[in-house]
Amino acid sequence: MNPGEPQEAVRFGKLESTDPYRVSKIISSQDSASAELRDRCISLVSSVITGDDSPRISISQDFVLLLLYILRSIDENLLSVRIANMLRDTVQRSVAIGTPEDMESYCSRMGLDMAFDPEIKELLVSIPVFVKYCSRISGFQYRLVSQVLYKGQVILRQDTASHIAREFFAEQFMRLYQSMETQAARKVLTPYSEFISTAKREYAVLRSRSKVDLGNVESAKFPPCILEYIRQVREGVNLPHMARFTMVSFLHKIGMGNPEIMEIFKSAPDFNEKITEYQVNHITGEISGTQYSPPKCAVLQSNHICYKGNDPLCAQEWLKHPLRYYLIKKKPRQKSGN
Ligand code: SF4
Repeated sequence: MNPGEPQEAVRFGKLESTDPYRVSKIISSQDSASAELRDRCISLVSSVITGDDSPRISISQDFVLLLLYILRSIDENLLSVRIANMLRDTVQRSVAIGTPEDMESYCSRMGLDMAFDPEIKELLVSIPVFVKYCSRISGFQYRLVSQVLYKGQVILRQDTASHIAREFFAEQFMRLYQSMETQAARKVLTPYSEFISTAKREYAVLRSRSKVDLGNVESAKFPPCILEYIRQVREGVNLPHMARFTMVSFLHKIGMGNPEIMEIFKSAPDFNEKITEYQVNHITGEISGTQYSPPKCAVLQSNHICYKGNDPLCAQEWLKHPLRYYLIKKKPRQKSGN
């Protein structure tokens, strides 16, 4: 980082390759910039594992590349998602402070199409891009029905644009991460094998301490959608709003207490105790006085968060609700054979 530059900075283009030769060069290079970059990657990963204060992040293309190799070598999905989300937040903050013209050039460098319209002096994005990236953000202001359209595109408020940039970045980062082979990454990072095995060991200890007990409810009888939401939360995936709502209201309806529901969210990368507690208490009626029910299967299907796969009970035409699935599974003998 140059003197005078902000502590937190983002300078990179499209995340599209995980070139091993480039990483080998960063690792073996004797110059001070490469040494500093290596230190920053190591200290970011270490601080997340040990729970120390995370350093301010300055993101560059090489920083992201080396980080991807380190994370793939450690091979802990939740850790990777946590760090992806920290970088994502840095991207969001950096985008949010720019002018609309800055935002346009910043996003197009990342490969995200957002256009500044000089006539109306607003940022525009296509409807599919808006829907894709805003579906993961809670709040009515991020729904399509709340937007103003211009020439078939969505006019973006500055905060919406920065949210889209952040979700776009996280998606690109995780896509590259998922495309990499653990063994191949470890081979490239051979000089760091001791750090990798220590980090993996320490993270396993941390993980075992945060196991969730689902109490007396029979999780083996949960429908595939609810199992998938729980799995994703534990893996550190940021659930879409409707999936969160469905999971909380389902677990409440089958008798799980609010503290146990809160426990599930504790492994989420963006876990915020106060906000989660408020949301859980709201959905379960402690604050609102209304105990919400999970949506019907048709609603979950139209929101692309039904995970029925080949499940024989979900395949029944009459199965219209996740709660019904659970109730049927709980009955010892049913004519349907379930
Ligand atoms: S069919 Fe219904 S119960 Fe089954 S996974 Fe889909 S939404 Fe869930």
